[in-house]
Amino acid sequence: MKELIIISGKGGTGKTSITASFAALAQNAVFADCDVDAADLHLVLEPAIKQTTDFSGGKRAEIDPATCTPCGKCLEVCRFGAVKKSWDVDEVVDLAYHIDPISCEGCKVCVEFCPENAIRFDDCINGQWFISDTRFGTMVHAKLGIAEENSGKLVTLVRKEARQIAERENAALLIVDGSPGIGCPVIASITGADMVLVVTEPTLSGKHDLERVAQLTANFKIPTYLCINKADINPKLSDEIEREAGKRGLKVAGRIGYSDAFTKAQIMKRSIVEYDDSAVTDEIKTLWRNVTDALK
Ligand code: SF4
Ligand code: SF4
Repeated sequence: MKELIIISGKGGTGKTSITASFAALAQNAVFADCDVDAADLHLVLEPAIKQTTDFSGGKRAEIDPATCTPCGKCLEVCRFGAVKKSWDVDEVVDLAYHIDPISCEGCKVCVEFCPENAIRFDDCINGQWFISDTRFGTMVHAKLGIAEENSGKLVTLVRKEARQIAERENAALLIVDGSPGIGCPVIASITGADMVLVVTEPTLSGKHDLERVAQLTANFKIPTYLCINKADINPKLSDEIEREAGKRGLKVAGRIGYSDAFTKAQIMKRSIVEYDDSAVTDEIKTLWRNVTDALK
């Protein structure tokens, strides 16, 4: 089983549209949406959820009002400003102190210092992850709670589960919609993968983002291919990006032209290769062939 990760320097480059098209073209694959901060592969693949599991990215402190004296020690020791006096917040009236769950970093210092053992330190639920059926095969995806972090940990979990399912199902390929950028979630998306496909656009920011992503995949020694989306909006810059990519050892797997069919297909909840039979669809099919040949 091979693992292909599709990433981009930033969101909105067409990464998910290309992943959805690959899902439609693949014969025996499992899919994972690791773009957990802005998951939208489900909009096209329309998963029917079979299993939902809570995700806990860490622990958080919570004061037990029945045991708290209140001495104020926790307020004094919290470096993150997460402990509040109750009269600071209108709706909290029955506690002398409480902990703001958004600001709490889970460092446990207040728990250690509380003389009354009045602070619980339990797993907090940061989101959920799902195993689903789609019209193309099994998909693992996730939803992070509002203002929740730890997405790197959730990405690792989604990938691990998807890999196990792919192995169980004897799938030939695991196709992963990776996180954008170069931070912790994208590192969690790509480590140990067989191939990374970077989707970029011929803009100056696209060129800059590509350089950063190329450096990242080079550090992890992962074979990296490039797809220039909307290549015809600036052919000169597309050529320049291709030359730069070559110097960095990146191979260009395909160029895709601009087409409003991408948006139309998305509105119809279809991948472009299911929706349209134009030049752009042919270009995606060529890209798919080049990628799968390179994975052999
Ligand atoms: S340190 Fe413990 S007892 Fe003191 S205010 Fe905080 S929770 Fe209450
Ligand atoms: S666990 Fe750490 S961050 Fe959270 S309230 Fe206690 S001291 Fe503050």
